Amino acid sequence: MTERHATIEPIASFRDRARRWLGENLPPATEYYVGAFDEAVWARHRELQRTLFDGGFAGICFPKEYGGQGLTPAHQRAFSEESLGYEMPLALNVPTLAICAATLLDLGTEQQKRARLPAVLRGEEVMVQFLSEPRGGSDLAGLITRAERDGDEWILNGTKIWSSGAYAADYGLCLARTNWDVPKHQGLTLFLVPTTAPGLTIRRIRQVTGSVEFCEEFFDDVRLPADSVVGEVGGGWAAATTLLHHERAAVGGSSPYISGDQPHLGGEADTLIELARSTGCLDDPRVREDIGAARTTRIVRDQLIAHVSGAIAAGAMPPAAGSLVRLFGAETTWLQTDSALRIAGTAAATGAPDGPGNGQVGIDYLFRNAGSLGGGSTEMARNLISERVLGMPREHTADRDLPFNQVPRGR
Ligand SMILES: Cc1cc2nc3c(=O)[nH]c(=O)nc-3n(C[C@H](O)[C@H](O)[C@H](O)COP(=O)(O)OP(=O)(O)OC[C@H]3O[C@@H](n4cnc5c(N)ncnc54)[C@H](O)[C@@H]3O)c2cc1C
Repeated sequence: MTERHATIEPIASFRDRARRWLGENLPPATEYYVGAFDEAVWARHRELQRTLFDGGFAGICFPKEYGGQGLTPAHQRAFSEESLGYEMPLALNVPTLAICAATLLDLGTEQQKRARLPAVLRGEEVMVQFLSEPRGGSDLAGLITRAERDGDEWILNGTKIWSSGAYAADYGLCLARTNWDVPKHQGLTLFLVPTTAPGLTIRRIRQVTGSVEFCEEFFDDVRLPADSVVGEVGGGWAAATTLLHHERAAVGGSSPYISGDQPHLGGEADTLIELARSTGCLDDPRVREDIGAARTTRIVRDQLIAHVSGAIAAGAMPPAAGSLVRLFGAETTWLQTDSALRIAGTAAATGAPDGPGNGQVGIDYLFRNAGSLGGGSTEMARNLISERVLGMPREHTADRDLPFNQVPRGR
């Protein structure tokens, strides 16, 4: 038996300890977390993360030397289950912890990990991803934000978009093109960028739901020190692949790097039952069918997460299999959001978001398609599953092997 296994706390005693600590230190959740909308929410979640850190429950799967607990995904799952019903720092889950910090853990230099990870786990730093560009996010390798070397520095120019929560962030992981003479996948580099860097402008975007969480960023001669590179210069595609692997796990609900969980909005049969009761249609056979389907899908999804994440960890499935969870997660969200809409009926459009009849259902419906775009679109997930999990032939891409400066582009 290794030393690690000899000293690791058994899940049952960890779960008991977590249950007691949560009861004594965190208030019950009074409402679902639906995304941070203002600075006060971010400040509260940073504070909650600090409480977890001080209590020894932050970063359960992060190594101890970077401020984590050095435990296993099974410990994380136990903690997440126990934390349902408590107010948790959920705004820091995605992308800060589960995507950006997880990527830094895999690829960062020792200096980057020691500087950033403990600060993130203490709730002092929020991180975001600067990947998508106005020209489209699916063809990530075709991005045109450029970074040029100038002595000991890099100079960044370009535009990013759809970065969730960038206005509240301290650092962003930014993928940029550093070599235009090689095919598109080979000329990219990932950078760690402070959001306060001179020349970086962050603007918030208002959506149809009223949310202003998405941002767009303009990089105008942003100067970065040479040690801002995450991974290798020119190794940005490998770095992005690692990041996207963590993103798929996070979006699909199988990331071990989160700080707790909550019942999913519109997803729990209980929420639908409550909704049906409030709109007086709980005895309608069609509604009961919807509630049953939502409950069954949720159970299947949870089992799929357990199966796929276990298989990836054991090497029985490739990391790309995370797309299975990601795909099913989006389908589950669609089914549940649609069921909630059918149950709420006209109240979804006419009800106040926080009033009886639940107008929030209508708002959730407007955001429905985000589930099949965030973390890579559903179509791209299907491509990935067919090519990397099922071994089917690769989709033809005309620009794959051309030096990027020879690829025809619009203005
Ligand atoms: C909730 C949410 C959070 C997000 N957070 C971030 C973030 O923090 N940082 C960030 O950088 N981005 C973020 N994004 C952006 C996200 O990564 C992009 O929306 C996604 O990659 C798709 O890019 P696009 O929207 O530009 O669509 P496009 O790439 O323009 O695609 C449009 C449509 O064409 C389809 N399509 C494109 N290519 C193919 C193909 N080869 N085969 C089949 N179909 C294809 C797509 O599936 C899609 O339906 C977020 C998006 C959402 C919804």
